[in-house]
Amino acid sequence: MTKVLATASVALMAALAAAQTDPAIQQISSRLTPNDLKADVSFLASDLLQGRATPSPGLDIAAEYIAAQFRRAGLEPAGDDGYFQTALYANVTPNLEGLELTLETAGNTVRAHPESMALQQAFAADFSRLPMVKATGSDAAAIAALTPEQVRGKVLVLDFSQDANPRAMMPVMRQLPATAARLQPALVALLRAGASPSAMTARLREMSPSSSTPVLIVWDDAIRAALAATGTTDAAISVHIPPPTVVPVKLHNVIGVLRGSDPALRDTYALVTAHYDHLGVRGAGDGDHIYNGANDDGSGTASVIEIAQALAALPARPKRSIAFIAFFGEELGLVGSRYYGAHPVFPLAKTVADLNLEQLGRTDVDGGSSVGLVNVTGYDFSTITGTLRQAGQDTGLQVVKNAQLNVRYFAQSDNQALADAGVPAHTLSVGYAFPDYHQPGDEWPKLDYDNLAKVDLTVALAVFRLANSLETPQWNADIPDTGRYIKARQDSLGK
Ligand SMILES: [Zn+2]
Repeated sequence: MTKVLATASVALMAALAAAQTDPAIQQISSRLTPNDLKADVSFLASDLLQGRATPSPGLDIAAEYIAAQFRRAGLEPAGDDGYFQTALYANVTPNLEGLELTLETAGNTVRAHPESMALQQAFAADFSRLPMVKATGSDAAAIAALTPEQVRGKVLVLDFSQDANPRAMMPVMRQLPATAARLQPALVALLRAGASPSAMTARLREMSPSSSTPVLIVWDDAIRAALAATGTTDAAISVHIPPPTVVPVKLHNVIGVLRGSDPALRDTYALVTAHYDHLGVRGAGDGDHIYNGANDDGSGTASVIEIAQALAALPARPKRSIAFIAFFGEELGLVGSRYYGAHPVFPLAKTVADLNLEQLGRTDVDGGSSVGLVNVTGYDFSTITGTLRQAGQDTGLQVVKNAQLNVRYFAQSDNQALADAGVPAHTLSVGYAFPDYHQPGDEWPKLDYDNLAKVDLTVALAVFRLANSLETPQWNADIPDTGRYIKARQDSLGK
């Protein structure tokens, strides 16, 4: 006990000493307040915004709010439309009415029931009496042995109907895009014993021509029986799939810049990012169906806003520029950050770091309490963690490594899209599992705003120091996981 107190008081004295030596700490903390953060989160996570689904009017209101706060901070707009980076997508819904599949074998014609089929992605198709090639779905070796000469232009039937365990499908399904690209079938039909859990209802897709092979999932008993009874040489398949409904949607990453002061370094960038979307409204009936997403990731979005305000108000600018980005579409699978990675506003080679902020508000996390600490994903992956740790020492916040989860969660947020583009990038979280994770109960009164302000002070100090340093953050080459990021970095630097 005594020892703990002694350690705590040493940490406190170190923090006080640093506060005296680095005036930025006091300057930032005086402008980055719990109430400011609460104001942002309570608006973003209000029922009015209906859970900020991608796409939705609530998401667009959130984007306008973030842009307004960037305007208040005096950030430079960096989108194509003010602070908005416009991304054109389409919401594509398959049209299952009129879906037809007919199997003709010697003297026998079987028609699938429309409700015993599903599409894996939306597409239109009209094929008449195509020959087919059949393989057992779980037999990866047999599929690998097929040649383009055998399969090209035909229907490739992968029969999973003997596999009760859906896991048997996984290895082949993972390989399916590559298999289809190699064999070039006109259509892939996946034969299952029961209804497909992965059938597509609606999906967001970037507006660009898609060349992937259509995949039809079939669990129709009559078709399965007929296929089981026939060889592949004497069967023909006809398919009619009506065109999907395509609704164009405009989505926005919100981007503002605090311009750096150094003539040589102001065109290099440190990023502070978070996703502003959440899960929207789900389900029906009695009870709360709005997934407010206060901690996930209203807390990160509010932090991006308030860190921007605080750093913009400092008497001196850092040498490099700091860009603040709120991404759409994280909950759909990093869609907004992947879009940014493919359409970067700032050259990736000149982007030195990304601090991505997720789930910073709840301290009742991971089965305990995490007041006074922040986790970093990919803790040992780059030199950024060292800068964070130093900032934490100076502010009295522990920057901790979750031994089990820091590597696994590296891929679970938008930092991954930047890392894939070579930019040293981590996600900071107060905790990973919290009681209302992806539930309607993730609401703004449950956040610890005093702790959030303390975490944000540390993040702001760290990003200010990163941006003010002549040194560029580096991936750690001693860690095997970083190999592909180092390669991506070298590619973007043209080395
Ligand atoms: Zn999140």
